[in-house]
Amino acid sequence: MNKQPTKDVYQTLLESTRAIPWSIDWESKQFEYIGPQIEELLGWTAESWATAQEWIDRIHPDYKEEITNYCITQSESGIDHEADYPALTKDGGFVWIRDVVHVVRQDGVTKKLIGFMFDISERKQLENDLLAANKKLQAYSYQDGLTGLANRRLYDKTLDAEWARALRHQQAMSMILIDIDYFKKYNDCHGHLQGDVCLQEIARALENITSRSSDLCARYGGEEFVFLLPDIQLENAKALAEKIRLSILALKIPHGDSKINEYVTISAGVSSMIPSKNQSSTALFDAADKKLYEAKQRNRNCIACV
Ligand code: GH3
Ligand code: MG
Ligand code: MG
Repeated sequence: MNKQPTKDVYQTLLESTRAIPWSIDWESKQFEYIGPQIEELLGWTAESWATAQEWIDRIHPDYKEEITNYCITQSESGIDHEADYPALTKDGGFVWIRDVVHVVRQDGVTKKLIGFMFDISERKQLENDLLAANKKLQAYSYQDGLTGLANRRLYDKTLDAEWARALRHQQAMSMILIDIDYFKKYNDCHGHLQGDVCLQEIARALENITSRSSDLCARYGGEEFVFLLPDIQLENAKALAEKIRLSILALKIPHGDSKINEYVTISAGVSSMIPSKNQSSTALFDAADKKLYEAKQRNRNCIACV
């Protein structure tokens, strides 16, 4: 039982597997053979693969140049290789293919390419799903669950990055720290659930207040919010803080037990610095925090600036 398989056996084997065999004569760039399974996968008959040009024509336009150049270079250098790309189907769709290519050489000259095409669309779909899930997860991990604003984690990360940038470019960086006035009383008076709704309403107003993409508005914690304002001078930060104070007041959220207003109000502390080497970003926060304390002392519903 040690006989060689006949040519028929080889052919049947090759044409019944999910890997689609093919070969190309390198000099003429003609297809010598392609498994009939190709028709089931892409819709193009085996006969329609005449030259390497058909192969190129059936690569997705976004991948065509890169894949073609790569495969030609590797083939000319005599290096076996693989390439993944979406292949055009006869009805105009695309299927992800992996081409595994063996280069046949003679006296250092490439004579023939022999390869297999595999349908990897299922694997690609899984990869894409995983990528999308990871992206979503990352977005969630930087988002505050209640308000949808950036969370403390993103704030910390952004502060460090922006501080380093401001230090490098010797640019100003400003911060506004915001705290809702008498929020414990609000909860006690209207209930904790209504307190959550109030936080959400305030968050909506805050996130619409600046449109610069480099500004970050985050929920710092509890009923405290923070604005990070890269490349913003104190005067502009101060104006923005006052705008914030007025727009929260304009929401006219009734507060049944505030000592200072019939509506919910906020207090804010504003700081601004051009970072120096011997300072850390906490200096900017500490200064804003100090000013917030001062605003609270000044009977709340106001802003205080460094
Ligand atoms: P001040 O004007 O001095 O800021 O007084 P305050 O009552 O706002 O400050 P305090 O720090 O005493 O109370 C903050 C309150 O915020 C207490 C806490 O129950 C409430 N709070 C913090 N996080 C949440 C939240 O996620 N939802 C609700 N509903 N309340 C929260
Ligand atoms: Mg507070
Ligand atoms: Mg408060």
